[in-house]
Amino acid sequence: MFKNNGKKTAISIASTACLCLLLVVVAVQHHRFQVDGIIGTGTPLLNAPDAAQEDTGSAQVKKGFSAYFTKLTRGRREVEKPTRSSESTDDPPPAEDINPDDIFIAVKTTKKFHQSRLNLLLDTWISRNMRQTYIFTDGEDEELKKKIGSHAINTNCSAAHSRQALSCKMAVEYDKFIESGKKWFCHVDDDNYVNVRTLVKHLSQYPHTQDMYIGKPSLDRPIEATERLGDNKMKPVNFWFATGGAGFCVSRGLALKMSPWASGGHFMNTAEKIRLPDDCTIGYIIESVLGVPLTRSNLFHSHLENLQQVSRSEIYKQITLSYGMFENKSNIINLKGAFPVEEDPSRFKSVHCLLYPDTPWCPPQVAF
Ligand code: UDP
Ligand code: MN
Repeated sequence: MFKNNGKKTAISIASTACLCLLLVVVAVQHHRFQVDGIIGTGTPLLNAPDAAQEDTGSAQVKKGFSAYFTKLTRGRREVEKPTRSSESTDDPPPAEDINPDDIFIAVKTTKKFHQSRLNLLLDTWISRNMRQTYIFTDGEDEELKKKIGSHAINTNCSAAHSRQALSCKMAVEYDKFIESGKKWFCHVDDDNYVNVRTLVKHLSQYPHTQDMYIGKPSLDRPIEATERLGDNKMKPVNFWFATGGAGFCVSRGLALKMSPWASGGHFMNTAEKIRLPDDCTIGYIIESVLGVPLTRSNLFHSHLENLQQVSRSEIYKQITLSYGMFENKSNIINLKGAFPVEEDPSRFKSVHCLLYPDTPWCPPQVAF
């Protein structure tokens, strides 16, 4: 089903040398991006082109964690420029009075993470948002079905961490959203905490009939890709995309316009045309094909940014949070909460007790 006609990778960076360095850097900085199709989702290339130009591959390898975060910080500065920024601390008047039921939250997961990742989400933010949350996985799980019923969706996509398998899941997410009739499509990974209250508040700034694509770019510049046209022709394309690892949202108005490139089997074909992961393909359809710009929001967070930089006092204002490891060090938000790090390494339980202090398993002292 997934044809590989032997052409070279579609990522077109200035020169082959640059591409090689880029791949070395990327492989070292984050294991999610591997050559020739086997890749993770989200944000493989943060600042990598810069890094490739400034450092030799081996020097870069040695710099490790601190250099990685320096790069990320610079990326954040770029990303945080107020251009097209969507949020402000003064709450603008809502454009539309929406409620949680108007949002379709798709959580992408895989069977091997049901225990280790998904249960934490089910115990925390999903427990308060069952009606709007849909779990997209790749295997049957009776326990999961007992917890969330028909909202556990077995995509029958491959459980491999390949570009095709991940695009297959995104295609099912898209189709299920269209079928749901809801006003907003939001996608997150299974290592994201979603603060649904702030999500609702944020999305209510925009009419869902308007073309809206909201999230956090992972690169400090548009991604450069090559679109494969018929007759062996290639066309360079540049576009911004919102990283899947931080979560992103698309209005129904825009999602409907994406249909010729995203519905049914079309999403997989589109992803094959540019040979990039699922979240890049979403960006390609929206920015490159439809000409709708990404609206940046710094309220979405992936574990490819330094999560220590999320201000402690503003944790409750964020839309998504994440957690992860880098070179055996944990990358988590800085929160002195209800549970110590040993009991709550992701900090999600502590965040949950901060947002929902009436939760029965939250220690009473935080229920003020
Ligand atoms: N994932 C998947 N299939 C796999 C591996 C991962 O669907 O074989 C999902 C995973 O559940 C998560 C997302 O892809 O929602 C990103 O995976 P992960 O966080 O492990 O990698 P990252 O790309 O963030 O480093
Ligand atoms: Mn992840």
